[in-house]
Amino acid sequence: MTRGSESRKPRPALDRSADGSSTLSEAVRTIRAESAGLLDLMVVRPADLAFVVAEATARDPDAVMVLAALDNAVQRISAAPRRSPMRCVACLRPLLARTHYSFCVVLPSRANPTSSLAIAVCSKCAVTPEEITAKGVLGLRQIWPDISSRPITVTHPTGGQA
Ligand SMILES: [Zn+2]
Repeated sequence: MTRGSESRKPRPALDRSADGSSTLSEAVRTIRAESAGLLDLMVVRPADLAFVVAEATARDPDAVMVLAALDNAVQRISAAPRRSPMRCVACLRPLLARTHYSFCVVLPSRANPTSSLAIAVCSKCAVTPEEITAKGVLGLRQIWPDISSRPITVTHPTGGQA
C-alpha cells in the first residue's frame, strides 16, 4: 500500500467534535482540496481489519489514514444517539451494535495523504468487495455529488488493485 517514500508524520484526519457531528463535510472538503479530484477507495471488511492495523503499526502512510478514518467512523457509530443512529450509506438502515457492516475508505490519491473518510455499508446490502465498492460509490455520490466525474482507484488492503 505504500506510495512515495517520504515519512512525514500524518496529522489527524478528522476533527473529532465532541458530539461527533460536522466531520463529514469537513472531511469531504479536505479530501477534495488535497487530492485535486483523484481518489483512492479501499474496501475494508471486518476480516481485513487485522491487516490494516498491522500495516498502520508499521507506519504505512495509507494504512495510518485508513485506520484513522475507521476509528473515527466506529466512534461516530457507537456514539450516535438512539433516535438518530448512523446509517448504512446504501439502504439507510440504522447501524446498531448487532449490525454487520464493512467500510469504504476514501483517500486522496497522493503520497502521504492527510485526510480520509470512511462510510459504512451493511451486510444486507453488500458482502463481496465488488458489491461493497459499488454501494459505497453510489453512497458517496449522494454526499459528494461531483464524485461521478472523478477517477476512483479501487484498492484492497490485502494487496492488488481491482
Ligand atoms: Zn445497507
